[in-house]
Amino acid sequence: MIDSHCHLHDTEFFADNREEFYSQSITAGIGMICVGTDERSSQQAVEFAANHDYVWAAVGVHPHDSKDGWGEIERLVKEKAEDSPIVAIGEIGLDYYYNHSPREVQIQALEAQLQLAVDYDLPVSFHIRDGAPDQPSVWDDFWPIFDNFHGLRGVLHSFTDTRANLEKGFSRNLYVGLNGISTFTKVQAQQELFATIPLDRLLVETDAPFLTPKPFRGKINKPEYVELVAKYWAEKRNIDFNVLSEVTVRNTKQLFGI
Ligand SMILES: [Zn+2]
Repeated sequence: MIDSHCHLHDTEFFADNREEFYSQSITAGIGMICVGTDERSSQQAVEFAANHDYVWAAVGVHPHDSKDGWGEIERLVKEKAEDSPIVAIGEIGLDYYYNHSPREVQIQALEAQLQLAVDYDLPVSFHIRDGAPDQPSVWDDFWPIFDNFHGLRGVLHSFTDTRANLEKGFSRNLYVGLNGISTFTKVQAQQELFATIPLDRLLVETDAPFLTPKPFRGKINKPEYVELVAKYWAEKRNIDFNVLSEVTVRNTKQLFGI
């Protein structure tokens, strides 16, 4: 399998267990896409991917960190060599829940990095999170921005929103990434919604070290656990686990060109 979104490269989260968790994943037959969240972690993702088999890198500045700049992402993409492990831009997007960076700056960072995705023909790992119901909707800002760029492809990582926005994503050929949240959410409507995702649009991920799936809640997450997400949905949807694994691997390879 392939964990389509994790942060195993990042020593801020995996100070002394990175190699151990990497070996466990490889032994279990699991590769991974290591996703940057700021300039430092994007550099680290590229280095880690360059030095490990079955690891690929996404570079990008998360909306939380937009206020600290994204110049290094432009440099990493512009200077990437023919054999570079960089396969995507991400994670980028808008987060109106925490608003760690001002909204105008989040939008600027998103637009600049989407331009890179278009210019270098790279898929995008999107982090889009809405704020409180009485606040302006993040999606009202996101979709018009997305539609301004032509030829974008990508995944709505860790999607937890409404059917309407899921449909808008599908109509734009986006994939949806499910992770541990889908195994432990108590919101029935979300479970029902996730169960309707067409298999050819589905990716699985861990977002490790966050969002550990059942039954390991409370422990640190790792790429190996992507299997638990796949198993959970194979059972729920009454699909053979191997079939679901194969389909999600195929989707991941197709999107990221790996
Ligand atoms: Zn992430």
